[in-house]
Amino acid sequence: MTIAVESENREKELKVLDKAIKKMSRKELPHILRVQQAILRAVDEYMYKKGVTRIMPIMIAPITDTLNHEVEDCGITYEGQKFDITKSMIFHKQIMLSSPYLDKIYIVSPNVRLEQAEPGDTRHLFEFTQVDLEIKNATMDTIFDFEEGLIKYVFDYIKKECADEFKALGIGTSHLDITGPFERHTTQELRAKYGEDFEMEASKASTQPFWLINHKREFYDAEDLDNRGTYRNYDLIWPMGYVEGLSGGEREYKYDRILERMRELDADENSLRNYIQLAKDGKLPKTAGAGFGVERMTRFVCQQKQIDDVTVFTRKPGETYIF
Ligand code: AMP
Ligand code: MG
Repeated sequence: MTIAVESENREKELKVLDKAIKKMSRKELPHILRVQQAILRAVDEYMYKKGVTRIMPIMIAPITDTLNHEVEDCGITYEGQKFDITKSMIFHKQIMLSSPYLDKIYIVSPNVRLEQAEPGDTRHLFEFTQVDLEIKNATMDTIFDFEEGLIKYVFDYIKKECADEFKALGIGTSHLDITGPFERHTTQELRAKYGEDFEMEASKASTQPFWLINHKREFYDAEDLDNRGTYRNYDLIWPMGYVEGLSGGEREYKYDRILERMRELDADENSLRNYIQLAKDGKLPKTAGAGFGVERMTRFVCQQKQIDDVTVFTRKPGETYIF
């Protein structure tokens, strides 16, 4: 590399350094972070009161979420064995509930997903944290009740605890006034009403969070056997254009169903052979669950333009990173 190129590169890097320092020095940031801290505090309180056991996160493992959308691979080798960095703890959640002594669990789970940069994307980070819940013998309705209760508890808590932060951020709290059970809409219904960008359009048209149900996606999301081609899974959509905040589903747990769904979606059976073995031995329990993105909730609560506005260091896909 010539000296001229080297010094030009260094100049560019110093600009990134300057940008990084400016990002972490925004006066809004400590208020946003305090609200986020209060969110997590309220989540822990709610979970504790409901008897849900907190599990520490797994961050690398031989298996991780197969994810039905493209992200770059980021495996590592340790002790001669291949590990993936956790994309989500879905399989670990199902497997740990095979214990007769664990029924309801959650993890404040760091996930790495090396997402493709998309122009105008305001809601993806390449690493984020989700509050990931799984309950044995639960159905969609159990999870809807549980998560609606959680969101109401968290929002009431932060309205009370974070009044100074909202004042400093110059925003009100009426978007946190949750009424009644959330509406439920199917993807088909909203697509027919709003067209292909239905999630965004419906979110913009709404002032309350709502459930969006029936998505064809991960193999482990249960198909409704009485109604083939529909799925017992769901997203929670934040209103006012903040879109998806949570995803979950009832899970496939029976051996033949898992194999059928994996084959349909061309999932790699070999890397999941021990998970499949548990299903074959009848050891995977019937569960349902959901995970909500902490940064996405913080963004909605603090009404920030981009998800990257709630992080200290940029984790937005497509940037230059130095820290
Ligand atoms: P998923 O089950 O893949 O939808 O992930 C659960 C939740 O985590 C989502 O509903 C989002 O709230 C959050 N999440 C997923 N991917 C990202 C990402 N790349 N950046 C920020 N949050 C995310
Ligand atoms: Mg999702």
